[in-house]
Amino acid sequence: MAQSLSFNTPPAPKAIVVGGSLGGLLAAVCLRAAGWDVQVFERSPQALDSRGGGLVLQPPVEAALEFAGIHAGSDFGVPSRDRTFVSRNGSVRRMYMPQTQIAWNGLYQRLRQAVDPATLHAGETFVSFREEGSGAGRHVIVRFASGREERGDLLVAADGPLSAVRSQVLPGAAPRYAGYAAWRGVLPERALTEGAHDLLQGTFAFQDGRGHQFLTYAIPGEDGSVRIGERRQNWVWYRPVAQGAMLDAVLRDRQGQQHTHSLPPGAMRDAEVRTLQHDARDLLAPHLASLVTATPEPFLQLIQDYEAPRMVFGRVVLIGDAAFVARPHTGAGAGKAAANALALAEALRTGGNANRIDVGLAEFEAGQLPADRQLVRWGITLGRRIMGGAVAQLA
Ligand SMILES: Cc1cc2nc3c(=O)[nH]c(=O)nc-3n(C[C@H](O)[C@H](O)[C@H](O)COP(=O)(O)OP(=O)(O)OC[C@H]3O[C@@H](n4cnc5c(N)ncnc54)[C@H](O)[C@@H]3O)c2cc1C
Repeated sequence: MAQSLSFNTPPAPKAIVVGGSLGGLLAAVCLRAAGWDVQVFERSPQALDSRGGGLVLQPPVEAALEFAGIHAGSDFGVPSRDRTFVSRNGSVRRMYMPQTQIAWNGLYQRLRQAVDPATLHAGETFVSFREEGSGAGRHVIVRFASGREERGDLLVAADGPLSAVRSQVLPGAAPRYAGYAAWRGVLPERALTEGAHDLLQGTFAFQDGRGHQFLTYAIPGEDGSVRIGERRQNWVWYRPVAQGAMLDAVLRDRQGQQHTHSLPPGAMRDAEVRTLQHDARDLLAPHLASLVTATPEPFLQLIQDYEAPRMVFGRVVLIGDAAFVARPHTGAGAGKAAANALALAEALRTGGNANRIDVGLAEFEAGQLPADRQLVRWGITLGRRIMGGAVAQLA
């Protein structure tokens, strides 16, 4: 009896995931839970957890973790009770709005631990794919820079805002600069001044200025600790920068290398760090400025918009930032990737029936495309509201 059952059970369909950041790992754990064989290919040879700052924990992330059977634990996030609005002169207004903030590296590590290391291939850069066959025999062949070729039933593109997979299915498509950037920093809670510590305890704080916005909140420590004094303070400062010489100067690192979209911690030139600190003293409430001046290695990310016209191209599916780049004011980067991963796994719970894959992909796209499109547009609306006319001329 057992023998005839295993004889009739078709092999698990195979997904090739390109990108091993949050989107790729979320897709991997959710598809695995839906019965798929999943192999993840990430360009970076090292783990990514030494980078990243904070995220607001969104319900889709919790739902995807639950679907995948991952118990994040009570030390996953730092709760905040309210939102605090601080003015330049230091006056404070509070609004009750509970939420939880997590560390990017904490989520990344939990996902990585849940993925079988034998299925995670680091240092593999996607180059191209081709599709072959038809009906139940339809499949993709994916080629990597190492010369390796992989065959699968599905290619999941989770390779971020500059997706190479997307370049093949949508040549020329690229995110558009929104006219401003986010300067960011993370510092140990114990490095905060007493005044900043008292102001920021248990709160998500903002300072809205003319054409700029600063925000800050606590996240778990690098080792995951959520004990007071062992956590980290994450801050983000949105400021306009005109495209051209000014933007190029900001994106040139200390080795003189020109970056195009972001600068990692430690790469910002001393002159730019000094200008940032000077501007902070000039424009921010003193306790908030003290966070900027105490951060040795601020980093930077351009704010961009991108909306894919479709997410499914035969047996290729775009998810996360490869499909849609929503402004961070929505707090939805990881949440969007998680919603995509979960919806994909739910639509493709095939029980190994390859005929169902194309139907499932169509269902996935019909649900996710309008939601993600709306999110990108909501981000643009929020960005205009926050940055006002300051960026209208700069993009
Ligand atoms: C190191 C890092 C730190 C981050 N920190 C934060 C943070 O603190 N707060 C926040 O809100 N968001 C952060 N983000 C962005 C956040 O992860 C995304 O906005 C969101 O979670 C969607 O993720 P994604 O996996 O779709 O895209 P991304 O996170 O951009 O990941 C794309 C992945 O694809 C890989 N890749 C790209 N091209 C190829 C290729 N040709 N072949 C193989 N692999 C490729 C990249 O190396 C990367 O790991 C960070 C991203 C990274 C990569």
